Amino acid sequence: MSSFNFDVITLFPKAFESINNLGVITRALDKNLIQVNLHDLREYGEGSYRQVDDKPYGGGAGMVLKPEPVYKAYESIKKKSKSKTLLMTPQGKVLKQKDLVRWSTLDHLIIICGQYEGFDERIRCLADEEISIGDYVLSGGEIPAISIINGLTRLLPGTLGKPESLVDESHNSSFLEYPHYTRPLIFKDMKVPDILVSGNHAEIKSWRRQKSIERTLERRVDLISNQKYKNFLQNESVKKNYNQFLKFSISDEYENYPDW
Ligand code: SAH
Repeated sequence: MSSFNFDVITLFPKAFESINNLGVITRALDKNLIQVNLHDLREYGEGSYRQVDDKPYGGGAGMVLKPEPVYKAYESIKKKSKSKTLLMTPQGKVLKQKDLVRWSTLDHLIIICGQYEGFDERIRCLADEEISIGDYVLSGGEIPAISIINGLTRLLPGTLGKPESLVDESHNSSFLEYPHYTRPLIFKDMKVPDILVSGNHAEIKSWRRQKSIERTLERRVDLISNQKYKNFLQNESVKKNYNQFLKFSISDEYENYPDW
C-alpha cells in the first residue's frame, strides 16, 4: 500500500519534530503509512537575505508573508493523484472530524502554514480549502497543521492497534462518547458503576448509549441539529429506553450553528 503524503510549507520546520513523539503517529511513520515532507519557506526566500515577508500595503502592524516564496515552494511539490491543498487560517472553516475522515480517502495533502500577521491575499488562490482549528488566533499555522496530520493519521488503516476504537468515539456521530473506567474498582471512594462489571453486554451497551446521549445534551447540545434529533426520536428502541431524555427539546438557535 502506498503511503499518505503530507507536504508542508512552513517557515518553522523544526516545529514538526514533535510529530515523531506522539504515540500512534510514530508507529505510522515507522510502518511507512505516512510520509511528511517539510518545505522550508526560507529556502525559497528572495535575495541574499532570503526575504519571505514584507510590510503590508496601506500600512498597519506586523509583517505579511510574500506570495513569491510560497508559490515557488508550492510549485516544487509533485502532486499525487488524490491531492488537496489546505491553507491554515483563523478565517477558514472550523475543522471537524468529518473533514479528517473525508481527507483520509485521499493520498496527499499539501498544507500551507502562515506566520506573523498572515499572508498576502493572493496565496489564497492555491488552496482548495481554508481551515481554522478553532476560534482563536495562534502565532503560526504549524500547530494547526500538526493537528491535522495527527488527527488524519490515526484514521488510516494500520495506525491504531484496535480500529474499533474509532467507531464510538466523540464527533464520529452527533453524540459524544460515553464515560470510561479502568482498574481499580474503587479509587478515592469513587466506584466504577455496577453495570460495567455485571458482565451483561446488552445492558452495558444500553447504559453506554444512554450516557452518551446525556453527555451530549449536557455539554454539546449544538452537535445535534433539530432534524437529527427528530429522526432520533422516531426510533422505537429510543422511545422505549430513553423516555426520561425525550422530554428534552432543542431550540431553533442550534439550527443556526454553522455546519460547513
Ligand atoms: N492577522 C490574521 C491572523 C494571523 S495569525 C487574521 O486576523 O486573520 C498567523 C498565522 O497563524 C495565520 O496566517 C495562520 O496560518 C495561523 N493561524 C493562527 N490561528 C489559526 C487558527 N485558529 N487556525 C488555523 N491557522 C491559524
